[in-house]
Amino acid sequence: MKQVFKPADAAELYSVPYWSSGFFRVSDKGQIEVTPPGGIYANLQEIVDDLIASGESLPMILRFPQVLGGRVRQLSEAFRRAIEEYDYGGRYQGVFPVKVNQRRMVVETIADAGWDYATGLEAGSKAELALCLAQDLNPRALLCCNGFKDDGFIKLALWGRSLGKNVVITLEKFSELDRILKIARELKVKPAIGIRFKLHAKGSGQWEESGGDGAKFGLNSSEMLAVVERMRQENMLDSLVMLHCHIGSQITDIRRIKVGVREATQVYANLVREGVPLQYLNVGGGLAVDYDGSKTTFYTSANYTLQEYASDVVYTIGEVCKQTQVAAPTIVTESGRALTAHHAILVMPVIDVTGPTREQPLLLERREGQHAIVSELDELLESINKRNYREIYNDAVANKETVHNLFDLGYLSLYERARGESLYNQILQRVAKFVQDMDYIPDELEDLGKVLADKYICNFSLFQSLPDNWAIDTLFPIVPLSRLNEKPTREAILVDITCDSDGKVDKFIDLRDVKSTLTLHEWEGGPYYLGIFLMGAYQDVLGSAHNLFGKVNEAHIRVKTGGKYELELFVKGQKARRMIENMGYEEDMLLESMRDQAEAAVKKGRMSADLVAEFLEDYSEELLGYTYLEYED
Ligand SMILES: *Cc1c(COP(=O)(O)O)cnc(C)c1O
Repeated sequence: MKQVFKPADAAELYSVPYWSSGFFRVSDKGQIEVTPPGGIYANLQEIVDDLIASGESLPMILRFPQVLGGRVRQLSEAFRRAIEEYDYGGRYQGVFPVKVNQRRMVVETIADAGWDYATGLEAGSKAELALCLAQDLNPRALLCCNGFKDDGFIKLALWGRSLGKNVVITLEKFSELDRILKIARELKVKPAIGIRFKLHAKGSGQWEESGGDGAKFGLNSSEMLAVVERMRQENMLDSLVMLHCHIGSQITDIRRIKVGVREATQVYANLVREGVPLQYLNVGGGLAVDYDGSKTTFYTSANYTLQEYASDVVYTIGEVCKQTQVAAPTIVTESGRALTAHHAILVMPVIDVTGPTREQPLLLERREGQHAIVSELDELLESINKRNYREIYNDAVANKETVHNLFDLGYLSLYERARGESLYNQILQRVAKFVQDMDYIPDELEDLGKVLADKYICNFSLFQSLPDNWAIDTLFPIVPLSRLNEKPTREAILVDITCDSDGKVDKFIDLRDVKSTLTLHEWEGGPYYLGIFLMGAYQDVLGSAHNLFGKVNEAHIRVKTGGKYELELFVKGQKARRMIENMGYEEDMLLESMRDQAEAAVKKGRMSADLVAEFLEDYSEELLGYTYLEYED
């Protein structure tokens, strides 16, 4: 009996309720909707269809400022509630580390949504500081300067104080102090300094080494006390305003956070009792995103919610302050990933499907005198049945390898090799049918799913759009934007259009494990768009130009009431010319070379003179074109 497949089944299959933090859902019509705070919604497929109808192309990033603003408010409100609940004596002020996403739209949206909460920014380089200084922030908002600093960086930070901004320079190493004091004297500015402390506590997951004794940044206990002494001698103790620590990104286990925060608060309390008038305790980033929705300590998950994070940080700091009888500091966090991940979605079209179980265009006819190894595969295919398919599968795998070895040694013809391969594929298809009906897959067949998987070719570059999937195996939720009221029947991996065999996605989220295939609908040749979700943190700036595939098109969408939306801004992706020029070529030089070559070809009689103009036009048009595949249907 055929079971009906409902949108709720699709939501479950793709874990939508578990990773979406309430920002996405599957509609009754089987399409994905974005649902920013305030009871509004919009249909992603409809947005993309409208943009395509108006002449824009995929791949494309959809950005939702209301989702981003929603995250900023959620975080600050979570701390407000925790402060109320535990009767905490201090305040909370978030800071956004711009390295996570320096996009103008992102920084301005955070500054705007965070105005009432005095949300600030964190810069880790001169360039980042330059852009942060130009933002319109609440005057109370912090501007933290982290990272290694040269004189130019320090100067810029101090000028910021002259402008009346709440700039704090974080000491990452002891030797920075002398230079800060010297430049501050020259500029006649009183610096505000934070000390980054190397916690003994470590994070968990992939960034474990950001904390602990071996950390790249920060001062150890004795260096920190030396800073205090130095500042006391200078009569500038009141310039030490912040204690800062950061135990890594994507901390999956809340216990690690509590341990780190407890240690940091002890250090804070000790310094205050030494007479250092600190005001801010900055507990850094690390607030994790539950990419797979499993709510576990798995590296792409987190075993806590935003509210639990805020509550545990506030409670832990409050308790230590009570015990040590120290005034409760203003709590600062530098959450980046958790603020920005949700707001951006990469939409890419499937452009082709291949794979071992797709219909074989031809099973070559059996010829007299074919090699015995090929005949064996013929026999395996003929004799396969429900009872022996496991054995046959193993034999077929071995035979296929032998076919390739014999071919390499010159014992098989190309015809025999081709026939052997297609027999092998037929056997796989039969095995797949038997396996489909099983609840339990025996170990020896576990890899079969991967072997049999379709390859859905998608118009995107993994290196440009999803670098963390390639580099550190971050798993992003991937869901078709439509047809979610229809049972998907294919198991697939995704491959991109770069000429790099690494350009593929073959690990997918799962509530219990990692899946090696993604369940997708049969592709019928028409538009079928996949959304890659939670990609708003780090991906935009870490992306690289492999094969000169450039930045993709971007649409900034404001959702209105009644399922309506408004295109706020469309940012065109990089053109081929820009990518080529980034490599040191100049457009003029390219065009001149083309003209010279065309003229030479005309002289030699290879090209007819009246086609030169058309050729040059085609060439120039490509320079101005999108770097991704463009099909006109
Ligand atoms: C990268 C970084 C952050 C951001 O961390 P998330 O895990 O993205 O919140 C915060 N603080 C410092 C010092 C960082 O280096």
